[in-house]
Amino acid sequence: MKKLSKSEARKQIEEFFNNIKDKTPKEIKKIKRLAMKYNIPLKEKRKMFCKKCLVPYGNSKIRVKKGVKIVACRECDYIGRWKL
Ligand SMILES: [Zn+2]
Repeated sequence: MKKLSKSEARKQIEEFFNNIKDKTPKEIKKIKRLAMKYNIPLKEKRKMFCKKCLVPYGNSKIRVKKGVKIVACRECDYIGRWKL
């Protein structure tokens, strides 16, 4: 991987997450590593893929219950929960 400036890395991450539905867990792992290397927080973007198997949530069912957003991963059945 060529060396990037922090703003270039950030741009690459933004672009990656714009098309996250087409990404593989392997690519997500790579972009997470890139973000870590450049000390770029993913914040809300973390909610776009499964924490456990790194599959993008894409078509997964999202439910909202008592102010908590619940997403079940279609690959590993891991349940992600976030306060709204
Ligand atoms: Zn999963």
